[in-house]
Amino acid sequence: MPADIVVASLPSVGVGVRRSFKFLLRPTGKQAAALAQCLEDHRELYNAALEHRRTAYRKVGVTVRYGEQSAELKHIRADDPDGQGRWSFSSQQATLRRLDKAYRAFFDRVKAGRTPGFPRFKGRGWFDTVEWPKDGDGCRWDSQPHYPTATYVRLQGVGHVRVHQHRRAPGTVKTISIKREGARWFVVLSCDDVPAQTLPATGAVAGIDMGVASLATTSDGDHIDNQRHLATSASRLAAAQRELARKKRGSKRRRKAVARVAALHAKVRRQRLDSAHKAALALVRGYDVIVHEALNVAGMTRRAAPKPDGEGGYLANGQSAKSGLNKSILDAGWSAFLTILSHKAESAGRELIAVNPANTSRTCSRCGHCAKENRVTQAVFRCTGCGFYAHADVNAAINILRAGLALREAAQAA
Ligand SMILES: [Zn+2]
Repeated sequence: MPADIVVASLPSVGVGVRRSFKFLLRPTGKQAAALAQCLEDHRELYNAALEHRRTAYRKVGVTVRYGEQSAELKHIRADDPDGQGRWSFSSQQATLRRLDKAYRAFFDRVKAGRTPGFPRFKGRGWFDTVEWPKDGDGCRWDSQPHYPTATYVRLQGVGHVRVHQHRRAPGTVKTISIKREGARWFVVLSCDDVPAQTLPATGAVAGIDMGVASLATTSDGDHIDNQRHLATSASRLAAAQRELARKKRGSKRRRKAVARVAALHAKVRRQRLDSAHKAALALVRGYDVIVHEALNVAGMTRRAAPKPDGEGGYLANGQSAKSGLNKSILDAGWSAFLTILSHKAESAGRELIAVNPANTSRTCSRCGHCAKENRVTQAVFRCTGCGFYAHADVNAAINILRAGLALREAAQAA
């Protein structure tokens, strides 16, 4: 039982982490025009590089790589000193790498047997960021330190732009990006060695089971974040999508239906992130060590055939609960949650352990008897061996915790 497990609390080590900080820019009129031009030229560079790759492949079957495009950049700059030549070589390379990354992601998805969309040309409004990969190279954070009351960032071709710095950016500035959001400009700093804000040790450990009714259930029996609101939005979204499918192409009603689907998607996304932040925060506050099931993406995308129980629900067939209606929403929710949890855990100095979830839902956490009959319904676990009775998610969470602690012990012994 989890109460018997005592783990010495970890010393809170002051390890630095990487974090991003975003500040509003206050450019002059001239600087705002230069920022817009800088963004536009980087967008054109991106599109030209994409065109180059596509043509070379279509006409002569040649795959153009980042290295060649980066080498060619020198000539492009030399031929166009008042245009592309104005901007930072490094930020332009970062733009070419961004295209390279889009290509790699595309081919990775093809290899995984999916049918992804080919990297697209970026229209106006679909390219809103330029990155300088290294502070000091074509850009400089806090470029005028002798002005003690204001902060500036120097950007090649734009000048010293005033920053509305509402908080300090701790750590070492690594990359600097500008971002356009509507009519406003922001600078985003990615900093290394940001001191972690370690939380005091609690002496408690937990396993968590990620589920349908609750985002996470702990081995202590807490159900964290009820998902009912998400389910409501999800069924509204499904209805809106069916509605959209009935509309005639090019019609005004169809445009309205598209907008409704997009708005609901955005709502689901906001709710999911909000839930994930709250749940993750509760967990890192409460526990020094958190063990979760590793998300096996391939296994989760495979569709398990649910067995209807004739009463509108599903019988326990191991996987049915985590597939079906809201599946894609759940999948995305779990991975977003784990990403947020890992950031918060790192920043708080907490230990996060991932374990293989195989059999955690059908094994008895008291006697170890493993049988699918143990799982009476979605919510109820009753061991056919020893009669242990528990909420199914809590039973699974205890197994997950135990597996994680065993892994940890093995790692410490090695
Ligand atoms: Zn048992």
